[in-house]
Amino acid sequence: MTHPKIKFNKKPIIKTIAVLVAMEAEAAPLVSLLGLKPCPKSHRHAPLPSVVRSGVLLENDDGGTKNVQHQQQKKKKKKRCEVVVATCGADSTHGVDSVGTVNAALCAYEILKTHEPDVLINAGTAGGFREKGAAIGDVFLVDEVKYHDRRIPIPTFTKYGVGAIRTAETPNMRKTLKDLKRGVCSTGNSLDATEVDREMMSRNDASVKEMEAAAVAKVCEMFDVPFVCVKAITDIVDGPHAAEKEFLENLAMAGKRLQETVPKVLEFMRGKTVTDL
Ligand code: SAH
Repeated sequence: MTHPKIKFNKKPIIKTIAVLVAMEAEAAPLVSLLGLKPCPKSHRHAPLPSVVRSGVLLENDDGGTKNVQHQQQKKKKKKRCEVVVATCGADSTHGVDSVGTVNAALCAYEILKTHEPDVLINAGTAGGFREKGAAIGDVFLVDEVKYHDRRIPIPTFTKYGVGAIRTAETPNMRKTLKDLKRGVCSTGNSLDATEVDREMMSRNDASVKEMEAAAVAKVCEMFDVPFVCVKAITDIVDGPHAAEKEFLENLAMAGKRLQETVPKVLEFMRGKTVTDL
């Protein structure tokens, strides 16, 4: 009796990459460089303020990324890859960007449900810890995310509160994009930090601090979608200046740093499988 040969499915090639960015100003330079257009598929599952744009990452003749064109673009390129960039959008009551964990998690849920990306990247700005080697303008490819403001001093809940999640393994991408620093990203819902927050961030071994990553990572874990986290430093948490002042001074510069870096990450991923990263 002959047995049919069992063929193992190759891991699928990355065809759709979602990029979730909290603030419009952080995403604008990237959206403009990639030439993305409003995405007709958005907001199927939730009435969110998020703004979603998409397009196809095109291949240059030399293999580099030239630009992105809208979905109707001819599909002849073999490494065709769709990019979806979502921002959390403006809060309907207060009119400002809806930063923080709640909107980021909801936005991640909507994007994962509607677009079924192969990978989700949370890109944005963060405060950096000088004692961990962070400087303004650095870009981090984060290894792990944790919370610093979910303190639950009941033994069975403590670890849940910290909510540590490792990002997708990307050893090859790290070798290629050598400028990217690495470390833990600590998430909380405040731009400033109390003494207790600082103690928790130190226990978290945080190199950077921001307001969304751990929440987005959790939703990716639920959907079993690899999570990648890229954060550009706007302010120094353990420096002499108030976070809000430094943040506003450096926001445009950090947006540019994301504009330079995220396309390199997309280009590296396009045409590969998740295990190649
Ligand atoms: N006043 C600002 C508010 C932005 S909140 C404005 O509306 O212009 C800060 C945003 O940048 C969040 O999305 C957060 O993820 C990130 N961020 C940058 N530096 C941070 C820091 N030091 N602490 C916390 N979040 C920071």
